[in-house]
Amino acid sequence: MEIRLAADLQPDSIVDGEGIRTVLWTQGCPHACPGCHNPDTHDFNGGALVDVDYIIDELKTIKNQDGITLSGGDPMCQPEACLEIARAAHELGLNVWCYTGFTYEKLILNPKAKKLLEEVDILVDGKFKIEEKSFDLYFRGSRNQRIIDVKKSLEEERVVLVEKYIEDKNYSNKYEKPRYMFI
Ligand code: SF4
Repeated sequence: MEIRLAADLQPDSIVDGEGIRTVLWTQGCPHACPGCHNPDTHDFNGGALVDVDYIIDELKTIKNQDGITLSGGDPMCQPEACLEIARAAHELGLNVWCYTGFTYEKLILNPKAKKLLEEVDILVDGKFKIEEKSFDLYFRGSRNQRIIDVKKSLEEERVVLVEKYIEDKNYSNKYEKPRYMFI
């Protein structure tokens, strides 16, 4: 099986999810969010086709990582190839984050995307909305995007957010801290 990628695997990222992560930049995205930071990844014929087994072999050689991050582009547009890579990452003891412009509620209605979700630990969902852009957010570009605990969400059949990332990064510097902030 092949996957269309925008770039080589990028190890040692600390901004694409929690911990030290290897990022897989998938090629192809249908969302066309105004202000997208990665417009070169939109073309479904761009980038290069790479054998999934090659990616998995590469992952085996990269040391001292907490997990992988499926990003792009939109990984949910290549669910079968991403599923194989996510499975292999879990077998290697790596956790799996995934960024997508689709919402969780849409993805669970699509059998292939749902199968991939079952191999994803954390999903950052929703389009990037420039009018909701903020640098104060953990691991996401705009306030509408959600950091979702996928396993709990599937189990409880509702969207469960990762509580520690609901607040702004510098929240305590700006305001008196409330108990919860709903998005
Ligand atoms: S979903 Fe992500 S990659 Fe796709 S257009 Fe929006 S910001 Fe860009």
